Amino acid sequence: MRYVIVGAGPAGVVAAETIRRRDPKGEIALVGDEPGEPYARMAIPYVLTGKIGEDGARLRKAKDHYKNLGIGYRSGRAEKLDRAGKQLVLADGSKLAYDRLLIATGASAAKPPVPGLDLPGVHHCWTMADARAIAKRAGKGAEVVLVGAGFIGCIILESLVERGMKLTVVETENRMLPKMMDETGGDMIESWCDAKGVHVLTSTRLKGVEKEKGGRLAVALDPGGSVVADLVVIATGVKANTGFLAGSGLKIEDGVVVDNRLSADGDSIFAAGDCAKGPDFSGGFMVQHAIQPTATEHGRIAAVNMTGGDARYKGSLIMNVLDTAGLITASFGHWEQGEEARAADLKAFKYVKLAFDGDRIKGALTIGMTEHIGALRGLIQTRARLGSWKAKLMRDPTRVVEAFVSKVP
Ligand SMILES: Cc1cc2nc3c(=O)[nH]c(=O)nc-3n(C[C@H](O)[C@H](O)[C@H](O)COP(=O)(O)OP(=O)(O)OC[C@H]3O[C@@H](n4cnc5c(N)ncnc54)[C@H](O)[C@@H]3O)c2cc1C
Repeated sequence: MRYVIVGAGPAGVVAAETIRRRDPKGEIALVGDEPGEPYARMAIPYVLTGKIGEDGARLRKAKDHYKNLGIGYRSGRAEKLDRAGKQLVLADGSKLAYDRLLIATGASAAKPPVPGLDLPGVHHCWTMADARAIAKRAGKGAEVVLVGAGFIGCIILESLVERGMKLTVVETENRMLPKMMDETGGDMIESWCDAKGVHVLTSTRLKGVEKEKGGRLAVALDPGGSVVADLVVIATGVKANTGFLAGSGLKIEDGVVVDNRLSADGDSIFAAGDCAKGPDFSGGFMVQHAIQPTATEHGRIAAVNMTGGDARYKGSLIMNVLDTAGLITASFGHWEQGEEARAADLKAFKYVKLAFDGDRIKGALTIGMTEHIGALRGLIQTRARLGSWKAKLMRDPTRVVEAFVSKVP
């Protein structure tokens, strides 16, 4: 059996290893278009702060790991999928024939349509090459404009603050972490950042970047004003890497649409990770939870099915835990609608919100309450019925750990 995996991030690497365990004789080609060995993007912030070196970000540290497993790891960029001929066409013209193909090409940072983003000193923070470029300009005391205060933006914020940089954060929405936090939560994080000396501008749009005399950058803002910076970091969302699939006939929405076996065609083509649009834990369909645990679980399930197994994906629980300059925030599942219970202590930077579906918790937000994270995840993932505990939590949502102990076996 010939397996081709395109994309050598966490989804692709876990898939290759799982295939090897299940099919010792199969031929495995793992194709990646970034230089060096496969690495974890989530380690980039630690590379930026200097806590680890680039080697520490590698997904597998052992020397010759892929070779020893008989995984043919090669550099290349997929340019076209020829489904009729069952082959993947690479940019250098070579062709890789497959019996089973996994698309694990992840996502790329999206660029807002404003002028000046190609200037030196304007970067995304998505690849190791980006991290290197940022590190060059990000000396202590340097002034940085970070555009986008979503999950990735706030992760980067943390490492830029740790590097001792002076930070202005620009966010189009009316609060920080607009997809991960409600207004109470987003505002709380903003005041926390303010107190740490980070200048946050919400309801503000990037209008453009221009080069100033002396090589600095002038960042124009809407509704007005501008900020001068040594570095501009753009973190305004991501886009699935599916361009090479144009004309393939696969169903592409904002990712490759897959079923609960992670199959894209019900047969020989599978997709996993940030590039896949797959089942959500709540029963709906989602794309890009864009977190590594989802990517690796996708990779594992797809690999089981590629090797003749029948593994079903239960769906990803949207779950993000974030450290923003020392304040730990978490969001789980669908917290946006439904009956809810909230408790906030604005001065102490503590907040909890629970969203119910009948007597089950379907989503939650917490700030500054790390002790609740495991319990909330457990209550949501096991779909535990709360019974009489629901009324208690409606009165006092901080009692989730007690509810978990009482309700989850
Ligand atoms: C700064 C940062 C911090 C993060 N922090 C966290 C965190 O704390 N927790 C968390 O869970 N997640 C975090 N993430 C998100 C996490 O890194 C992604 O969800 C994860 O990398 C997705 O894995 P993947 O294998 O689907 O895709 P990727 O890791 O993106 O790997 C896909 C690979 O495919 C390659 N590729 C793309 N197109 C082609 C092509 N045509 N041909 C060949 N190769 C191609 C790409 O270049 C890439 O190397 C972070 C991301 C960033 C950028």
